[in-house]
Amino acid sequence: MKLIRHGQPGLEKPAVLDAEGRARDVSALVPDFNPETIASPAFAQLLSSKAEDYPLAPQGQRLGAPIAGTRLIVAVGLNYADHAAEASMALPAEPALFMKSVHSICGPNDATLLPPQAEKLDWEAELGIIIGRVTSHVSEAEALSYVLGYCVVNDVSERSYQLERGGTWDKGKSCDTFTPVGPWLVTPDETGDAGTLDIWCKVNGETMQQGSTAKMVFGPAALISYISQFFTLHPGDLITTGTPAGVGFGKKPQRFLRVDDVVTLGIAGLGSQRQVVVEKR
Ligand code: ZN
Repeated sequence: MKLIRHGQPGLEKPAVLDAEGRARDVSALVPDFNPETIASPAFAQLLSSKAEDYPLAPQGQRLGAPIAGTRLIVAVGLNYADHAAEASMALPAEPALFMKSVHSICGPNDATLLPPQAEKLDWEAELGIIIGRVTSHVSEAEALSYVLGYCVVNDVSERSYQLERGGTWDKGKSCDTFTPVGPWLVTPDETGDAGTLDIWCKVNGETMQQGSTAKMVFGPAALISYISQFFTLHPGDLITTGTPAGVGFGKKPQRFLRVDDVVTLGIAGLGSQRQVVVEKR
């Protein structure tokens, strides 16, 4: 099933997409998709029903992130060998984890706000994993049963904040609008093996990233199991699994985003995003 939230920021309503890609309003059954409701019997009922069971919603509305109220974003650094090489960094022996502020989450097609004094705004197309239930000390074999669904994430990064201002990476990863999520949350029955999907990113129509999630050093099951050995994941938490080669920071010469640049990115079966860069005021 493909889940969306649509409407103006803060007023999004939950819907599912039918076979023809039309939004169907499910708000009478599940008032929103958030950490509380996705653990509810009504949500289980939704997942076992058909999109066509629900009334058509107004089409073509703005999309929000497909889940509200995410309380934790765990990001994985250097999880593709070709990206580690372009960044001139060694491949980590164990997954490299960092955190992004949940306040950086926005809709998949919302503008990316260029922060003041930002000089090195960059893109990172990534596979996102949304957790469906409490996940603690799970094995790799069990790990995928804790997944609610998969989505596209742009791990927007400001490289000077990330790498030249001291401390951890989080400062360059957490600005407002730095985590577009969606368009859809796609449940695992429909995704198939999320570890074998084509992933791409373009800037102003020019291909920058073209890869496959098959090239991840640590795949979805390994990451969920690994993270759960250190801290507990809860429903609605987002893991963003790292980016393939082709980011602006890795290009020769380096290339960073400017006002009016248009970033498009997507993953096969999970849909695509489009962001225009605008100055933050
Ligand atoms: Zn990333």
